[in-house]
Amino acid sequence: MTFDTEQELEQINRYTRKPLTADDVYRFTLTLCDNEIDRDLERFTPAALGELAALFVGKTGIFDHSCKSEQQSARLFDCWVETDKTRATSCGEAYTCLKARAYMVRTKENEGLIAEIEGGIKKEVSVGCAMGSLCCSVCGADRRTTGCEHVKGRTYNGRLCHDVLSNATDAYEWSFVAVPAQREAGVTKAFSKEAPMTESILETVKSAKNELKLTKAQLTALQADIASLEQAGADAKAYREKLLSEIGRCVLIALPQIDKSLFVQGCGDMPIHALETLSQSLHKQTKAMLPAKQQLSATESKPTTDNHAFCI
Ligand SMILES: [Zn+2]
Repeated sequence: MTFDTEQELEQINRYTRKPLTADDVYRFTLTLCDNEIDRDLERFTPAALGELAALFVGKTGIFDHSCKSEQQSARLFDCWVETDKTRATSCGEAYTCLKARAYMVRTKENEGLIAEIEGGIKKEVSVGCAMGSLCCSVCGADRRTTGCEHVKGRTYNGRLCHDVLSNATDAYEWSFVAVPAQREAGVTKAFSKEAPMTESILETVKSAKNELKLTKAQLTALQADIASLEQAGADAKAYREKLLSEIGRCVLIALPQIDKSLFVQGCGDMPIHALETLSQSLHKQTKAMLPAKQQLSATESKPTTDNHAFCI
C-alpha cells in the first residue's frame, strides 16, 4: 500500500500548531485491533471496528506503558478497516482489522524508537475504548443486563463462549509494546491459541520492560509448569546421585590407586550424558577385573531361589 505524502501531511497538520514538513515527521502503519477472540475472550464485530475507525482518528498512543514522555508518543491521523476474505477467524468470519497511520515528530530522543520501528520490531497494540454492547457469543444475551447461563471460556457445541463487543461509543487510548519479531505484526491477540501458553508467557516475560501482568489462566499455566520443572529437576538430581555413587563403587575396584572421593568430586560438574558414558566404561572395566566365579555364582543362585517358590 502506498501513501500520498502531500495528502498525509495535510491530515497531520490538522493536529499541529505549526505546519510540519515530510522531514519533520516519521509516519508508520499499525494494526489496532481485529475481529479475532482476544486474550480477554472478547471479540469486536466488523461493524464495531468501523465505528472505532472514526473514533480513533486523532488519538495519541504511547510506546511501552512506562514511557509517557511526549517524545515517545505518536498520533493516529488516519484509520480504516481492512478485510481479508481469504482468511477466516476462529468464528468463521472473514478476518477484519482496524488499521491506522500514525506519526511522530522526529526528535533526538525518539531516534532509537524510530529505528526500532523501521527495523521491523513488531508491536503488540492494546486499545482502550467504550463499547455500548457486550453480548454472549452463544445466545446473544446482554452480559450487563439480562445475563445468561453460558460461561466465558467454556465450549458449547464446539464453539468457544466469549463476549461480542459492538456499538463503539468512545475511543480513549492505544499503546504498544515491543514483542518478538516472529509474531504477527501489531496484533491484539498476543495470547491466541496458536502459541502454547508457556511460549506466550515467555514472550511476555522477554519483551517486558518493567512490571509484568499475567492473566489468571497464564498464572495457572505458569505455576503448573514450574511444578513440573521442579519435579523434573528433582528426578535429574536423584539420577545424577545414583550415577555418581555407581561411579564411586566402580572406581574402588577398577582404579584402586585413585582416591574415590576426589574422583567423584571431580565428576560433580559433568553433564549427565558424560556421567552415563563414564559409568558404563567403568562398569565394563570392573566386570573384566572381577573374578569369573563371582559372576557365575551370582547367576547360579537365581534359579535356586526361584525353585524355592515351588517347594511345598
Ligand atoms: Zn449466553
